Amino acid sequence: MKLRSVCVYCGSSPGVLPEYVAAARAFGQMLASKGLVAVYGGGNIGLMGAMADGALSSGGRVIGVIPQMLARHGLAHAGLTELHTVSTMHERKAKMAELSDAFVALPGGIGTFEEIFEAMTWTQLGIHQKPCAFFNTADFYSPLVDFLRHTVTQRFFKAEHFESLIVEKDMNVLIARMESYKPNTIQKWLDRSPFVH
Ligand code: AMP
Repeated sequence: MKLRSVCVYCGSSPGVLPEYVAAARAFGQMLASKGLVAVYGGGNIGLMGAMADGALSSGGRVIGVIPQMLARHGLAHAGLTELHTVSTMHERKAKMAELSDAFVALPGGIGTFEEIFEAMTWTQLGIHQKPCAFFNTADFYSPLVDFLRHTVTQRFFKAEHFESLIVEKDMNVLIARMESYKPNTIQKWLDRSPFVH
């Protein structure tokens, strides 16, 4: 699939390790160097601000989608290529998904998890056919990947859907895997009879 834009979900906080901020900035720079548009939550703080600044400093295009209630608090990045101000968080996620060909989570908190999990859910239901990835800087996502593997062994998540998630420490490999991603067409549901053990 020819990627044009990548939705980046990431922390509105910088995290503990300097590596998180450095990786977010580098990720933005990498998107710019490949001519990919970065779509994100429009914030100017934490890893969000670092990713956007990285992309902009390398001449990239960055589209922010921010709800009014966050923009009102002065949290919107002032230097973006485009900034969409929307009414609700739901509207924001729908707009971010519509503008993006792929989704990636950088380290972050529950806001980041909620966003990437929604994108993953929509992929497994076939609502869209877009790849979802975790940029595993400093092994941040390894415990979550272990939990997802547990979810597979407990038969709440299909192995095929788990395997179609992209988990990478190398951002160039991550983008290459997104580009060669083949959408999974298998049905979501496991053990449809409630009596199956
Ligand atoms: P968190 O990981 O909990 O810090 O939440 C970050 C995610 O939630 C981002 O990907 C944003 O889309 C959204 N978000 C949370 N806080 C903000 C903020 N201050 N400005 C813009 N978006 C935010």
